[in-house]
Amino acid sequence: MVCPRVSNSLALYKIVRPTAREERVFADAVAFARTLGLRVPPGVCEVYWVISEPHEYPGMTYHRERPVRVYLKRGLSSDALLETVFHELQHVSDAQYPDMERWQREDRAERFADRAMGEWRKRRAGARDGLCPITHIRR
Ligand SMILES: [Zn+2]
Repeated sequence: MVCPRVSNSLALYKIVRPTAREERVFADAVAFARTLGLRVPPGVCEVYWVISEPHEYPGMTYHRERPVRVYLKRGLSSDALLETVFHELQHVSDAQYPDMERWQREDRAERFADRAMGEWRKRRAGARDGLCPITHIRR
């Protein structure tokens, strides 16, 4: 099943390498999602980056594949990419529940992305005050 935020399929596009910034944002998002308690074991998903048409959604997850396949659009702003990765990571985590309804998957992904972005912004504000953005401990 395909994430319904996506009109068709990002999997139809040519796979490209992410930029260094995109790779860093992705790694930060995974690390941060884990600090919020999201279960994303190493190796559970494979990530593919594509350059797609502008109308396509920013990300999609094939949760029935093993490993789970996540497609991300190249060229998003860092905040848009973060939010997309948080959303898709909830789908990755929920792949362990094959019978979950589609609306429930989307609801959970939206909620997690909202919560994670809120926490991220709080920590980023903290970082400006000299706090580590991940641990919130003063550097
Ligand atoms: Zn989704």
